[in-house]
Amino acid sequence: MLSKLSSPLLRGYRTAIRPLAFAARHVHNAAAVDSGSASGGNGTTTSALYRALNATAPRTDWTREEIASIYNTPLIDLTHASGTLHRRFHSPGAVQMCTLMNIKTGGCSEDCSYCAQSSRYQTGLKATKLSTVDSVLAAARVARDNGSTRFCMGAAWRDMRGRKSSLRNIKAMVEGVHALGLESCVTLGMLDEAQAKELKDAGLTAYNHNVDTSREHYPKVITTRSYDERLQTISNVRDAGIKVCTGGILGLGEKPEDHVGLLHTVATMPSHPESFPVNTLVPIEGTPLFKSTRIAFDAVLRTIATARLVMPTAIIRIAAGRVDMSEEKQVLCFIAGANAVFTGEKMLTTACSGWEEDLAMFKRWGLYPMKAHVEPALRKAEESFQVDASLLANVPDSSYQGTSATG
Ligand code: SF4
Repeated sequence: MLSKLSSPLLRGYRTAIRPLAFAARHVHNAAAVDSGSASGGNGTTTSALYRALNATAPRTDWTREEIASIYNTPLIDLTHASGTLHRRFHSPGAVQMCTLMNIKTGGCSEDCSYCAQSSRYQTGLKATKLSTVDSVLAAARVARDNGSTRFCMGAAWRDMRGRKSSLRNIKAMVEGVHALGLESCVTLGMLDEAQAKELKDAGLTAYNHNVDTSREHYPKVITTRSYDERLQTISNVRDAGIKVCTGGILGLGEKPEDHVGLLHTVATMPSHPESFPVNTLVPIEGTPLFKSTRIAFDAVLRTIATARLVMPTAIIRIAAGRVDMSEEKQVLCFIAGANAVFTGEKMLTTACSGWEEDLAMFKRWGLYPMKAHVEPALRKAEESFQVDASLLANVPDSSYQGTSATG
């Protein structure tokens, strides 16, 4: 149901959209590139930002220079553009709550230098066996009853080779999660084609396998598996018809150009990942990256905004490290195009914001939990700025009066 609010709002936003498009062409962006293939009105050569902002479908032929020019746009313009495009493909108030459970902790043979679960580092983490199907489904039920619509399960190991009985149990978990009406996602390391097909047949919604960072920076972080091996697993997942969830970790000692490289890798895959998680390093004592410099928030926001502009249909997830972000910073990320969070008691081995806390934040800002299996799609411009009053019904009055109850 659309409220009466839609007409004045729409009129206001219509007038706002036109100057934005104009501004995108003339944005003070020293790095703006001449795409050479498209022209705005009056023969003006369009910038990469302008083309991104006017996308009617995802494109996978981005050049690294184009993505760099978007990434380097003044943040005030960049976030305005990404927030505007976000509304064209997604309901701006909808944020998916996902819960991530560690179904097998620690003892991993890989050397990812940020990870508490690698057996190579003394982090004090105790390795466990694979959780039972019943215990996983009990946790999934709790997540669903609290509002999560995606349940993710992570196992700390290199790959699925020789893990036939584990795969059998994981398929039972996937089927059970599916039967609860939740989207299911697993992250199990490297996967071959046959294993991907088995998981698809069990009803798996998505498979997470992060590329972590740019191709250039990657060898400084992990040496036990190559970037190409990661891409091969992602390709196996995609070919099996499972949705791809792949993203990065910011704060691994990388440079801004590595954020551009990461975005270029994912935005030029044969099809964009359905899901792009943005993690920030949670430094773990005992890991090589424990003392690395914390990533600045503007770099996180810039990465999210650029991701929204170059992958308009992806669900952008604020993942690890969110627990250290103030509410206001999180909301800036939502305005710029992020539309999913991890909520629950824990996120693998690190702390996580809880459901109550997140729902209270949602209410203050007019956000609401996204349903399961929502498919982003291009909406008409006028629909992008309509407000559904039924969704505002549960928002406390104080939210409109600037007297919200945040501490
Ligand atoms: S493969 Fe996964 S669990 Fe293993 S060390 Fe790397 S990040 Fe940690």
